[in-house]
Amino acid sequence: MKFFMKNDNIIESTEFKVEMIRKDFPLLTTTVHGKPLVYLDNAATSQKPWDVIKAIENYYAHQNSNIHRGVHYLSQLATEAYEESRKKVAQFINTAHNHEVIFTKGTTDGINLVASSFGRKFIHSGDIIMISTMEHHSNIVPWQLLSEYSGASLSVIPINEKGELLLDQFKSMLNKKVKLVCIAYVSNTLGTVNPVKKIIEISHQYNIPVLIDAAQAIQHLPIDVQELDCDFLVFSGHKMYGPTGIGVLYGKEKWLEDMPPYQGGGDMIKTVSFDKTTYNELPFKFEAGTPNIEAGICLANAIAYIKNIGFDQIHRHEHELLEYATDELLKIAGLKIIGTAAHKASVISFIVDNIHPYDIGLILDKLGIAVRTGHHCTQPLMDFYGIAGTVRASFAFYNTKEEVDQLVSGVKKAVRMLS
Ligand code: PLP
Repeated sequence: MKFFMKNDNIIESTEFKVEMIRKDFPLLTTTVHGKPLVYLDNAATSQKPWDVIKAIENYYAHQNSNIHRGVHYLSQLATEAYEESRKKVAQFINTAHNHEVIFTKGTTDGINLVASSFGRKFIHSGDIIMISTMEHHSNIVPWQLLSEYSGASLSVIPINEKGELLLDQFKSMLNKKVKLVCIAYVSNTLGTVNPVKKIIEISHQYNIPVLIDAAQAIQHLPIDVQELDCDFLVFSGHKMYGPTGIGVLYGKEKWLEDMPPYQGGGDMIKTVSFDKTTYNELPFKFEAGTPNIEAGICLANAIAYIKNIGFDQIHRHEHELLEYATDELLKIAGLKIIGTAAHKASVISFIVDNIHPYDIGLILDKLGIAVRTGHHCTQPLMDFYGIAGTVRASFAFYNTKEEVDQLVSGVKKAVRMLS
């Protein structure tokens, strides 16, 4: 809740009103199969507020030009807006320097950048890269690729039945061969919020750098990279109410300076000759070619939107939805929630008896309810639980208790039809 002063009286200024917030998101008023949309697939991607949609239109109507290269007015306008957005991102996650913010295509791109560039310089045969059982494929496969060509290997931090990392085991697995720890802040399938600060602290005792996959955290929690002391952190714009095709890699200056370029091309060079090419300074060294300019600029609008609501209010509302949905879903006979960690973000995965999650998802869709079904790009995690997949409902700050009620009655209907 935010407050302001008027005649020495404290007045509540921006009370959280979900119905008002929903008006900012045009797609939430649409219908699907003749039913009002109930959008509960926010962990896959979020809907966009008018502020972001209009900023995209504004870019193409008034700013469109290539950046960093032109002396002309439009190019400078676009460059300024793009670099201003970088500063907004830097403030949002509290980096020490603006040039520690590298624009990428998204979380996957950011992880691949680190795997390729950090990997080439710092990972050698016999080294170990540590991940966890609950990682998204994006935080597994790039490290497998790196292991294949470097001769390194992966080691996997185990979890308990609730979907929590086993920290004691993690500690006992650390040794001199471990060269990087790569961990999701929030699990996209279980909703578990991992104790990343502790993991970073422990890893640093062994001088091991840590990469945090914040794809499912950046929209739910305030993140301060200096306080966390993480070495790398990655996230995607589209999961935080911003455009698709833009993401961020934060890296500590000392690592980014030491790492070789990821891709070659325009913008990432200072001088090119057939004998020798010199590379541009940070952040441009890692940004070869024309980037997604409009998405980069409009990411700042998404950040402004989130900041305006505030993480206190976001957390309070989403947590209420999580608790309410958990209680109501558990009243359905045969329903089991996968992921019952003590500390969770607003993501619920569940299965019901032997009913295939896909069939439940199809029936929910006919009722206008969008959920995700399947393995959620976490197949090793599904193997741990011995299941093929789950139904996943993931909530954003614009969801309501009424929508949870519709989900619950939709699941009941599906179970009746499929049993
Ligand atoms: N990591 C996690 C935890 C995710 O949930 C996702 C997407 O769902 C990703 C990585 C990949 O994000 P993107 O597809 O935006 O690159």
